[in-house]
Amino acid sequence: MPIVPPDWPQASTVEQIRHNLAVVGQRIDRACALAGRDRSSVRLLPVSKTVDEARLRLAWQAGCRELGENKVQEAQAKAEAMADLPIRWSVIGHLQTNKARYVARFASEFQALDSLRVAQALDQRLALEQRTLDVFVQVNTSGEASKYGLDPIEVADFMQQLPAFPNLRVRGLMTLALFSSDPEQVRPCFVRLRELRDRLRPTLPAGIGLDELSMGMSGDFEIAIEEGATVVRVGQAIFGARSTPVSFYWPTPAPAAQP
Ligand SMILES: *Cc1c(COP(=O)(O)O)cnc(C)c1O
Repeated sequence: MPIVPPDWPQASTVEQIRHNLAVVGQRIDRACALAGRDRSSVRLLPVSKTVDEARLRLAWQAGCRELGENKVQEAQAKAEAMADLPIRWSVIGHLQTNKARYVARFASEFQALDSLRVAQALDQRLALEQRTLDVFVQVNTSGEASKYGLDPIEVADFMQQLPAFPNLRVRGLMTLALFSSDPEQVRPCFVRLRELRDRLRPTLPAGIGLDELSMGMSGDFEIAIEEGATVVRVGQAIFGARSTPVSFYWPTPAPAAQP
């Protein structure tokens, strides 16, 4: 089974979005069946970065009730423009402390927690807003030096600090796999995240849960489900190919210098 189809066609009508959601849903069903997992143990988070408000309103009509966005400002603008719809917004990209106040206002979930400074900034802002936020701790499982996320060996200590932030509800771990269409390159990243979660579980402080594993995107979510994903973040397979390069959303390592 090829894991990256040649192209994701643009979805610009309700029917097309509904069709793509159904196809993704069937892929999830099949991956769950093959892995012997309960379908209800996997949640689809549609990722809507670069998709404009008009198409997101169609996505709502097609059944999307939550949306993931990589960049805070883009997410906030959309959340404000669509405040008439009860959409659950998830911020899935790197956050700077000076933008924590925006996330505290509109987001229901933040999947890219990787520093105590950001945890503290979010917690303070959430207290002011009298809100809580579901969070995932982002782990760098690919070993690529420039990617965001904690080094796996730092995560145990990090978890011990989190009870200091009572407005953060720690749900699980998130990772971006190595950027590759080769399953044998991608899979070890997912395995690493699951094994880390399993190792950490007995050591967690009270109130900190690590039930969730957010991993897998349009091209590789079947592999992620096989390896235990409970949340898959899927954009292009629902909305169509993006023209922006991945490097716009997360830093990718420079190509190795030719010897
Ligand atoms: C864009 C994005 C995704 C989804 O990628 P697709 O290739 O569109 O499925 C998943 N996770 C993060 C953090 C993203 O920024």
